[in-house]
Amino acid sequence: MKRALIKPELCVNCPECAVMTVCDRSAIIRESVENKPWVDFYQCSGCLKCKPVCPQHAVEELLQPCTGTRRMSW
Ligand code: SF4
Repeated sequence: MKRALIKPELCVNCPECAVMTVCDRSAIIRESVENKPWVDFYQCSGCLKCKPVCPQHAVEELLQPCTGTRRMSW
């Protein structure tokens, strides 16, 4: 499964985050203007539409290794 990840060390906390603007699923959260945005993985579909719009290249593609072949044992 793919997800977008905003790397906090690269994000400069733009007043208008372009990544938030393009996300159709409102998956980018920013609690206040002092806080950097972050991706809610439960909402992110992994479309990565946001990746090319960040001027700081702060969005990274994250691959979650979930094959669906293993079950929880409880
Ligand atoms: S556009 Fe990129 S650098 Fe600017 S606030 Fe959004 S994620 Fe951070």
